[in-house]
Amino acid sequence: MKLAKFIDYKGGAIATEDIFMTKQANDLGAQWLSGAGLRPTRQRLSLARLLVGDGKDRHVTAESLYMAVQKSGEKVSLATVYNTLRAFCQAGLLREIMVDGAMSYFDTNMTDHPHFFWEDSAEIMDAPNDDLVISQLPLAPDGSEISKVDVVIRLRKTDS
Ligand SMILES: [Zn+2]
Repeated sequence: MKLAKFIDYKGGAIATEDIFMTKQANDLGAQWLSGAGLRPTRQRLSLARLLVGDGKDRHVTAESLYMAVQKSGEKVSLATVYNTLRAFCQAGLLREIMVDGAMSYFDTNMTDHPHFFWEDSAEIMDAPNDDLVISQLPLAPDGSEISKVDVVIRLRKTDS
């Protein structure tokens, strides 16, 4: 599994900058958890701070978040990061975006929106929603319904 950087909308790497260590980041993280009825345990809070502590949306992988939390000095195992991300998804705090059926990205932006996926660097970012039109979908098989549609637009760099 490829490692993806801890990225935000701008596509730049976010390390554990001071902003994620502030009381405000802590408060935002705690609010985010309590809004979904999750108890702000120390481990949850340390991850929540890195996910929403600056008030911006971002996409992470379990690995990128694990690296960020290690830099922050908290002791949280990769398995715990993974399980906590899953719990955040179940609580409706994150949505999971699968690419290639193998790479999972977790998005704090819960609105419906398409994604650009950079094949070269395995980075993911939001694509403009206004330009996307889905005019028709195949019928769901009997006894099922479409729960959601994920649009991932794969990009590769051109020479120019
Ligand atoms: Zn997104």
